[in-house]
This record gives sequence, C-alpha cells and structure tokens, in this order.
Amino acid sequence: MTEPFLTAKHRILRRSVRSFCDRELSPIAAQIDQEARFPWEVIEKMGPLKYFGIQASRELGGAALDSLSYAIIIEEVSRISAAIGLCLSVHNSVAVFPIMAFGTAEQQQRWVSELARGQKIGAFCLTEPNAGSDASGISATAIQEGDHYRVNANKVFVTNGGVADICLIFARTDPAAGRKGISVVVVERGTPGFVVGDLEDLCGVRANPVSSIRLYDCCVPKENLLGQSGTGLQIGLVALDTGRIGIAAQALGIAQASMEEAIRYANQRQQFGVPLSRHQVIQMMIADMATQVDAARMMIYRAAWLKDQHQTFTKASAQAKLFAAEAAGKVTDLAVQIHGGYGYSKAYAVERYYRDARVTRIYEGTSEIHRMVIAREAQKEIMSDLHIA
Ligand SMILES: Cc1cc2nc3c(=O)[nH]c(=O)nc-3n(C[C@H](O)[C@H](O)[C@H](O)COP(=O)(O)OP(=O)(O)OC[C@H]3O[C@@H](n4cnc5c(N)ncnc54)[C@H](O)[C@@H]3O)c2cc1C
Repeated sequence: MTEPFLTAKHRILRRSVRSFCDRELSPIAAQIDQEARFPWEVIEKMGPLKYFGIQASRELGGAALDSLSYAIIIEEVSRISAAIGLCLSVHNSVAVFPIMAFGTAEQQQRWVSELARGQKIGAFCLTEPNAGSDASGISATAIQEGDHYRVNANKVFVTNGGVADICLIFARTDPAAGRKGISVVVVERGTPGFVVGDLEDLCGVRANPVSSIRLYDCCVPKENLLGQSGTGLQIGLVALDTGRIGIAAQALGIAQASMEEAIRYANQRQQFGVPLSRHQVIQMMIADMATQVDAARMMIYRAAWLKDQHQTFTKASAQAKLFAAEAAGKVTDLAVQIHGGYGYSKAYAVERYYRDARVTRIYEGTSEIHRMVIAREAQKEIMSDLHIA
C-alpha cells in the first residue's frame, strides 16, 4: 500500500490498531450488526488504548495524536466495523474536539477528562425533524433564566444517542436573532427532562445506537454554554470540517474491506474452469476498486495533513468526504457484483459493507451539500487568485 504523508509512527499505529481490531472486533462484527448491539466488551478495551481521546491533550487523558493518526484509527476500525468507526469518529471529532477548541479550561477538565478516557461517550445533536441540511432551521431553545438555561429540544438521528453521556445540543438562545441566536449547550445524561428515544432500526451501521434525544424543560447551569452565545453555527461548522475527515476515513475503511473480500473471493471462486480473477472483466472491476480506494486515501490524508499544518482545509475535507463516500458506494457495489448471488446474502461480509457504505453519502452533510461547499470554496480560491472582488 503506498502511503505518502505517513511517517514510521503512523505505520506502527496502523499495525497496532489493525491487530487490535482483527483480534477483538472482527469475530463479532457480523453478529453485532445482525443484533444491532453496541459491543461494550470491546468499547471498554478501547478506552485504555486512547481511541476515545485520539487528539485530546495528554493532561486530559488523551493521546494528543495528529489528524493523520485520527484518520488511520477511524479507517482501521471501520475496516472491521463501520458502526464502531462511526462511534469513534463522532465522539472524537464532533464531541471532544469542539470542547477542546471552544471550551474553557474548567469545561475541558469537567468533560474531556472522562470522554478522552472512554469513561463517557459523547454525542452531537444538531438534526431535528424539520432541520437537516439546513441547520439554521432548528427550533430547539435554551432560554436563560437566572443562573441556568431551560432547554427544550427534539433531536433526531443522534449517533451514539442510546449510550451518550455528554451531548452537545444546538439550540436557540436568542430566538429573535436568527442564525446568530443559535448556541451550543452541553447537556449531561441524567439531567431531569433528558429522555432517550427509541433506537433507529437502520439499514447499515446497525451496531451504533442511533436514537432521538428529547429534552423537556431541562435546567442546565449557564456554565454549560460552549463558546460565546450566538456562535453555535460557527462551532458546528468548525467541528464538521474535522468530522468530515473522520467520515471520509470511515468510508475508506469500508471500501478497503470490500476490495479485500472481493479479491479474496475472485481468487477462490472458479467459473468456466478458472478463478474469477482470471476473467478480464473481473480484473477491470478490481482495477476500478483499487483506483477508487487509493484516490480516496490520498484525498483524506491530504486533508488531514493540511489540518495538521494549520492550513485551510475546509475544501480539502469536503472533497475527501464527498469522494470517499461515493467511492465506498462504487467499491461496495462492485464487491457484491464480484460475489454474484453470494454477495447478496448475509453469509458474506460484502452484504454488510454495501449497507454500511450507503449512509456515508448522507450524514455529516449529504453529497449534495458537500458539492455546494466545494463549489463555494473553489470559487473563493479562484476569484482571489484572479483578484476578482
Ligand atoms: C445513521 C445516521 C446517523 C446520524 N448521526 C447524526 C448525529 O450524530 N448528529 C446529527 O445532528 N445528525 C445526525 N444525522 C443526521 C444527518 O446529518 C442528516 O440526515 C443529514 O444532514 C441530512 O438531513 P436530512 O436527513 O434532514 O435530509 P434533508 O436535509 O431533508 O435532505 C433531503 C435531500 O435533499 C437534498 N437537499 C437538501 N437541501 C438541498 C439544497 N439546498 N440543494 C440541493 N439538495 C438539497 C439533500 O442532499 C438530500 O438528498 C445522522 C443521520 C443518520 C442516517
């Protein structure tokens, strides 16, 4: 595997994550998908390995690794279980990261120290029944009353929702101020009025307990406001820039696993007296899979590298997420095709990969929304190069 951008440390990290996942997650990956079960027994082992605090500071219990390491961990975990890759991606990039980036020292100590050790699980609660792609359309409210906020919200499709302890809730603190009246308040499970809804019966990533979360007159101390009042949408966008690298890496892990299974199968299965892999049409499919996987990997590593160099990476991360998600769709589809009828059976892993890949084109911004972001950023870049006002 060619891996520009990576150092020897990154390669060692990849080997160690792969070995952990092959040993602990692989034997149960199909079963947890079928049973839609969150595998606490493996999650508990990931805490000491710092998979829940990949980029959090060491003082707070994290591993303080770079974004490339983050992408590698999500890719490797998703190669075995996309549902658990999703859990780690959301927890690290849109729960822990915004608290590290926008939280006060007191807030970091209070929440990140347990999140980074995997003692608590984080969630990002933006989507509502009437506000998906258009996040500015949310109707949740967090109205300040003296020393606390009264929070009312109906959040849907919350990744980790069924097990989350610390939830970043996007709500209107100033309902009259439009986009500028949205803030993030952190609400802990157990706060009176905090209700976890039924788990979604999903097509893929089924081992992740995605659920709704409802808040009924939850009283939250005013110290739980993250960043400045009215900056919720900015916090969300910054978090999602990082989150996109994670979801792109998740898509890559699924695509990598599908390609491996397809190549294995194509070399075992014989038709017309030779292994499938000897038929030129199958070789064309393998060539397309390998090219999609390599291109996605390069785009993801470039976005992560740009982030690590403190360079602008909004367009790069949106491109990586768009490309990797669409690549995962194509590669998993080809993997099913190479398996013929067996690829359509739950007896073969490619059936699960096919289902898991589909959602990467939907969450943390659909492919359509990513194209809008990329078009905006590309035009900004070119117009500034051409000095067009
Ligand atoms: C398994 C899963 C986990 C999730 N986890 C989370 C989570 O942890 N936290 C969270 O907040 N949300 C989460 N989501 C929600 C997810 O982010 C949204 O589903 C997604 O942003 C799309 O919103 P929507 O479903 O309301 O679709 P809509 O916004 O209604 O879009 C429907 C379709 O219209 C298109 N569309 C919308 N606007 C435009 C436009 N202006 N131009 C062109 N096309 C447009 C979309 O691309 C899409 O194809 C999750 C979703 C799933 C399925």
